[in-house]
Amino acid sequence: MEEQLKKLIELQELESQFQALQREKLSIPKALSEIEKKYKQLVAQLESKRQILDDGKKEKIAFEQEVSELENSLSRSKRRLLEMRNNREYQACLREINGIKRDIKEKEDQLLDLMANLEALTEEVASDEESLEGKQKDFEKKKKKLSRKISQIKKSLALFDHQRQRVSSNIDPVLLNKFNFIKDKRNGVAIAAVQNGVCQVCHMNIPPQTFIELQKNERMHNCPNCQRFIYWSGFQVNAREECG
Ligand SMILES: [Zn+2]
Repeated sequence: MEEQLKKLIELQELESQFQALQREKLSIPKALSEIEKKYKQLVAQLESKRQILDDGKKEKIAFEQEVSELENSLSRSKRRLLEMRNNREYQACLREINGIKRDIKEKEDQLLDLMANLEALTEEVASDEESLEGKQKDFEKKKKKLSRKISQIKKSLALFDHQRQRVSSNIDPVLLNKFNFIKDKRNGVAIAAVQNGVCQVCHMNIPPQTFIELQKNERMHNCPNCQRFIYWSGFQVNAREECG
C-alpha cells in the first residue's frame, strides 16, 4: 500500500507541475497579443498626429496664400488712393485700406499661432517616432523571449509526460483508473493530504474514525466531501525521509 501511495503522490506532483506548465503555455499567446495591441495603439496614435501635422501644413500654405492675396489688394488700393480726386472717394478708399490692413494683421496672428502649434507638433512627432523605435525593439525582444519560453515549456511538458508515464506504469491499473477519473472530475487534483483531520484540498473535516484508520495506512481512503484519495500528511514526511 505504501509503495502505491508514494507513487500516487509522486504522480500528483508531476501532474500539478504539468498542469501549471500548460497554463503558462496557454497564457503566452494572450500576453503576446496584449503587447502587440499596445504597440499597435502607439503606431495608430503616431499616425493620427502625423495626419494632423500634414493638415496643419496645408492650412499654413492656405493662410500664407490668403495673406499674400490681401497684400496684393492692399497695394492695389494704395495705388488707387493716389488717383483719387474727391475727398469722399479718398476717405472710402482709406477705410478700405485700413480694413485690409486689419485683415492682414488678423491672418498673420492666426498664422503665427498655427506655426507655433506646428512646431510643437513636429517635435512631438519626432520624439514619438524615436520612442516608438525603442518600443518596437522592445516588442521584438519580448516576442522572441516568449517564443523561446514556449519551446522550453514544450520540452518540459514532454519530459513531464515521460515521467508521468513511467510513474503510472508502476501503479495498479485499477487504482490508476480511479486516480485519473477523480483527477478529471476534480480540477486536476486526485489526491489530498489530511492534516489535523482536515482535507488539505477541500478543507473539510474528515470523520475521526477515518482519520485514525488513515494513519494506519492499510488501505486507500477517499475524502467524504471531495472524494479525492486522501493520505495522512505525516506519511508524506516519512515517505520523503525514507526516500532521502
Ligand atoms: Zn476533500
